[in-house]
Amino acid sequence: MKKPSLGTVILKKGKERPILNRHHWVFSGAVQSADAGNGSIVTVRSSSGEILGQGYYNGRSNIPVRMLTFGDEAFTNDTLRFLLSSAVERRAANPLVRDTSAVRLVFSEGDFLPGLIIDSYANHLVMQCLTLGIDTMKDTIAQMGAEITNAKSIYERSDYPGRRIEGLQAAQGQLFGTTPDEIVAEEHGVKYPINVKEGQKTGFFIDQRENRALIRDCAAGRKVLNVFCYTGGFTFAALKGGATSAVSVDISRDALEQAEKICAHNGFTAPSELIEADAFEYLRNEPVDADLVIIDPPAFAKSSGDVERACRGYKDINLQMMRKCPKGTLLLTCSCSRFIDPDLFQKVIFSAASDAKRDAQIIRRTGHPADHPVNLNHPETEYLKGILLYVV
Ligand code: SAH
Repeated sequence: MKKPSLGTVILKKGKERPILNRHHWVFSGAVQSADAGNGSIVTVRSSSGEILGQGYYNGRSNIPVRMLTFGDEAFTNDTLRFLLSSAVERRAANPLVRDTSAVRLVFSEGDFLPGLIIDSYANHLVMQCLTLGIDTMKDTIAQMGAEITNAKSIYERSDYPGRRIEGLQAAQGQLFGTTPDEIVAEEHGVKYPINVKEGQKTGFFIDQRENRALIRDCAAGRKVLNVFCYTGGFTFAALKGGATSAVSVDISRDALEQAEKICAHNGFTAPSELIEADAFEYLRNEPVDADLVIIDPPAFAKSSGDVERACRGYKDINLQMMRKCPKGTLLLTCSCSRFIDPDLFQKVIFSAASDAKRDAQIIRRTGHPADHPVNLNHPETEYLKGILLYVV
């Protein structure tokens, strides 16, 4: 790692509590003074001079410091190696992360490493640097990541739009070894060919693993409708679980082409139709001939200012569905926006059911899986909410 000069950030009086509680973010409103270059490591001090820890600095962001250590501990290459290797070890030791070769190895603040995502597909790694601080350490992280995991390759997919706030352009390319255009990962007995270079995010929605297993368990003898299906993860889990037919809807032709490959790769024989359509229009215009339904849209709220509009979107799509789905439908409805909290999401779903004049029972609440851990000190790491409903 280039050794950037060590800067200092001093907090305003009374603003040290979250950092003493090992929360990773220093908001701009908490900063009294900063003497640091963007991208450099800083020591954060309270107004009385107490050392609170070290983090990386970016004065362009409304979160100018993201903490990497707390208390007196200095952030060094050894710290970085420890954080990376312990995140990897926790996955290996976790009995809930099994029967899969698609695993999130590093989940940003969830693994005490703000701004860094590393996913592994059959030991080909895909890395996302979300912030300038992490971007600055990118080569070191790739080198350490390759050593720690014995990875076959590492590919960078730092095309997350939020990088603009950090003053960064999108970046994509090979960091180590050679990543094939398609990697076949296997999860719970289903093979998923994944395009990590062109797919959405890092190529696959690993975060829905436990919900896919839930859908597989509910699927026997049911007809599936998977809306916002992307490459059809839920569809194929359901077919594996004995669904008799499936209809999958997405607006992205590329995603549906990949879904077709996944279907062929697994040799599923039940009828499976892939439909390129806007989900809102589809549900407004088409009948619902399915009794196992998945609604997993993109994050409608990307910031707190979007919440009201997002709620209208979640309500609309669930209302259309509940107006049409047959009695006894199992409906898994999801929101992956962290700005929509679980209570609010449940209220929105209640309001959709109420307008559709349907009674519905919550039979399971779900979230993200064990390789997307929620850091108790940093609850903003929680984002995915799923509600499994029995629509009466
Ligand atoms: N459920 C998927 C992930 C969904 S990601 C899985 O488990 O893999 C959100 C998906 O919604 C993306 O594939 C995107 O192409 C699709 N999408 C976004 N807007 C849409 C719209 N208006 N109608 C249909 N699909 C849409």
